[in-house]
Amino acid sequence: MPQNIVFSELALELQAKARVIADKYVRPFAAKYDKAQEYNREAAQAAAEAGLFKVFVPVEYGGYGAGSLALCLVTEELAKADSGFGVAYAVNALGSTPIVVGGTDEQKKKWLPAIARGEKMVAFCLSEKNAGSDASGLAVTAERDGEHYVICGEKKWTTNGGVADVYTVFCVTDPTSKSRRISAIVVEKGTPGFSVKKIEDKMGIRCVPVVETHYDNVRVPAGNLIGGREGMGFAHAMQTLDRARPCVAAQAVGAAQGSLDLAIVYSNRRKQFGAPISSFQMVQKMLADMAIKTEAARWLVYASAAAIDTGMQNVTKIAAMGKCFATDTAMEVATDAVQVFGGYGFMEDYPIAKNFRDAKILSIYEGTNQVQRLVVARNLIKESESLSHLQQYIPQEEQKSYKSAQPAKSG
Ligand SMILES: Cc1cc2nc3c(=O)[nH]c(=O)nc-3n(C[C@H](O)[C@H](O)[C@H](O)COP(=O)(O)OP(=O)(O)OC[C@H]3O[C@@H](n4cnc5c(N)ncnc54)[C@H](O)[C@@H]3O)c2cc1C
Repeated sequence: MPQNIVFSELALELQAKARVIADKYVRPFAAKYDKAQEYNREAAQAAAEAGLFKVFVPVEYGGYGAGSLALCLVTEELAKADSGFGVAYAVNALGSTPIVVGGTDEQKKKWLPAIARGEKMVAFCLSEKNAGSDASGLAVTAERDGEHYVICGEKKWTTNGGVADVYTVFCVTDPTSKSRRISAIVVEKGTPGFSVKKIEDKMGIRCVPVVETHYDNVRVPAGNLIGGREGMGFAHAMQTLDRARPCVAAQAVGAAQGSLDLAIVYSNRRKQFGAPISSFQMVQKMLADMAIKTEAARWLVYASAAAIDTGMQNVTKIAAMGKCFATDTAMEVATDAVQVFGGYGFMEDYPIAKNFRDAKILSIYEGTNQVQRLVVARNLIKESESLSHLQQYIPQEEQKSYKSAQPAKSG
């Protein structure tokens, strides 16, 4: 755990700005963009003008370098108003992080300032049709040809695809290598051979496009290889996901809070048996449980973000815990919120149905929650050396074999 969780003045200022944008440009139009499956450009523009894309870009490259906690606070506010817009914003941080953590100074200068100004949107292209949880199974290739790489294949589920200008694409550069197979390469929108093919028709987060991106002999300068060294892609992807998990978890906290808030307002207004349903103890229990879980998730997520900001050595476990708990919470809270709304909750006329649909993806993307649990368990086992002093308190009956317990046969 980090020693403390510090909310800088800048982080709180950015949170307040995000709240204003959420109230003015996001929440009032959430249903419209969900139905139309359209991207909310006005809200993205307002976020850019408020400097919200500077949050995750280092100061030297035109950003605020405000840190992971600030990014979580901003994402939470936006997602509280519309979880779909929350990810439409946060995916820019996800796509930029391989450049931030692995890029050369020249690459950072080339792409990050325009990203910070909100002039260029970003996408993160790791998943493929046959490589989801198992990211080592990628098939998209990038072959060196003189001063270029030639990229071939298809990426699946690229969030922000079509809207984004900069695509961080994970490609196989050395099929013979086990540990150094993959490299991350930047592909810019408009490069010949690059296209957005299938725009997915989704259950939730419908205001942000999720697409297939196709690479048909896409030639990019060799200078687009992130970090300038082949084989670093898997490490860049894992470092990125560790840092991005608090952000997707913050989206979940915002989504949960958004559902809880709607449930409280509705339960005070809806009357049955001559009284507001909020006066019934079983409804109160639901509201209380929703609030307890949301608050617990919030502080675990803030702790995971603070762990990153304070340079804690291994953030993988706490980041996975936060992602898993917060995203499960968002689904549970949305489910209970629908229950509080009763039959009206099942209707698309009411906003809670959208929150319910939006919540499901949270436990799937950026590593499913089964995978997060695997990560947590592996780390627990790895760290178990520090618990060896407890051996003395556990009897060792289970180690005695049945045979050795039998009296030895004579003669
Ligand atoms: C709306 C949406 C947006 C997305 N956006 C992006 C994006 O911007 N960029 C990107 O690169 N990807 C993106 N993804 C992909 C997403 O990260 C993957 O869907 C996710 O990692 C799971 O991969 P999969 O769908 O192939 O499922 P699979 O890996 O096939 O998993 C199927 C099931 O098996 C379980 N499972 C798999 N392996 C194990 C295991 N070892 N132990 C236990 N259980 C296991 C999973 O938990 C899951 O329940 C997006 C996906 C969606 C649906």
